Amino acid sequence: MNNLSSYDIAIVGGGISSSVFASRHIKNGFKGKIAIIEYGRNLGGRASTRYSFSNKGWQLDHGSPNLNIKNYSNNLTKKFIRELLDKDIIQSDTSEYYEFNDENNLNLKVNSDFHSGKNYITSSTMSELSQKIISTHNINNQIDYFFETLIVKLEFRNNKWILTSKNGSKFISKFLVCSSNLLLHKRSLDILHVNQIPLRKAIPIKKDKIIDNIIKLLDEQSYLPRMTFLIYTNHNYDFKDSYKKKYRYFLLNKSHEQKFKIERIIFQKHIDSKLGIVIHTRSVDLIKEFSNSENHEIFKANLILQFNKLFHQNKHINKLFDYKDISIMRWNASQPYGAGIPENLQVCKKYNIAFCGDWFANEGFGRVEGAILSALKLSEKLI
Ligand SMILES: Cc1cc2nc3c(=O)[nH]c(=O)nc-3n(C[C@H](O)[C@H](O)[C@H](O)COP(=O)(O)OP(=O)(O)OC[C@H]3O[C@@H](n4cnc5c(N)ncnc54)[C@H](O)[C@@H]3O)c2cc1C
Repeated sequence: MNNLSSYDIAIVGGGISSSVFASRHIKNGFKGKIAIIEYGRNLGGRASTRYSFSNKGWQLDHGSPNLNIKNYSNNLTKKFIRELLDKDIIQSDTSEYYEFNDENNLNLKVNSDFHSGKNYITSSTMSELSQKIISTHNINNQIDYFFETLIVKLEFRNNKWILTSKNGSKFISKFLVCSSNLLLHKRSLDILHVNQIPLRKAIPIKKDKIIDNIIKLLDEQSYLPRMTFLIYTNHNYDFKDSYKKKYRYFLLNKSHEQKFKIERIIFQKHIDSKLGIVIHTRSVDLIKEFSNSENHEIFKANLILQFNKLFHQNKHINKLFDYKDISIMRWNASQPYGAGIPENLQVCKKYNIAFCGDWFANEGFGRVEGAILSALKLSEKLI
């Protein structure tokens, strides 16, 4: 890479909203060069896949495992989902969903924002979903990708954006899209080790009402932490019954979630029939317990005890005696909560900057649906 790479649009972040925006914008006729700059190793962000180095061959969706559309009356979403279905990029999710009630019995009706409405899964992995969404329209290779690149500084000079990464690489761009709000939010101070919110530093207070408002409103938005535990089982571990689908979901109702400190357990079958298990938690107590635990092996053993207690005498799930490995993903900001940011703050023409992501007050706020819709709307607004 040259010391200074020059683009028409630089997108900070490579999650699903960024991928949808880039793809849709090209489809809508944008002909310029786009840079997608992402801190992680792949596309997908919070809807991505862990490709394990130490457990070769395993690919587990460790964030959002699927997407659900609650609001089908929105035409943009409807058409977009239709296109993904037509191209076999997604398919209807016909997996089994169960919810544990207080008596530890299973109901077939689940009560979760993540699984209501129409549910879809990818035909591959969640990271590949973002890649495929881009590939459908990036026929002329308009996009350059920069992975493992964390933007820590923004400058607006001579009508151009200059982005600087932690490792010193620089990008210059006519237009900037922030698909994450990290560079606008106070959590950036700790995460990026900077002394001022990067966007605030680039555009001082009282220069622009949109920027001032978005920073002010974001100050009141916070994030739910989550952790996911990825269990790589031994080859002989399988369901008790002959279930063959890719996913099987077990959710816990509110009081059971409090008791077990587990939100849901998602079984993920691999092509070679290995069975992966992803345990999701949003229990602040469990997350604290993990942080304070000096011996993570004991913590993991306790987690397996809870798993076995939950599935004790369950007709579908076998007791888990041993496993190859458990890897852990800590999401300090898994989902925004509080008020979503109003959509009229999505674009700031004066400073050639725009925003998308699940943090806007769309249908689907805090979910993949909202991330997609905000990106589709952004392209409409810019074209
Ligand atoms: C464990 C978990 C489970 C979930 N389950 C569900 C579910 O079942 N259903 C559902 O609908 N939603 C679920 N969600 C929420 C869903 O994943 C998100 O709403 C959605 O993926 C957000 O997409 P996005 O593109 O808006 O943001 P992100 O996916 O967060 O993308 C933003 C990207 O920007 C990158 N980035 C940020 N700052 C910088 C920087 N300075 N430099 C470079 N890169 C940067 C980040 O690394 C990230 O990849 C879940 C989330 C988590 C964590």
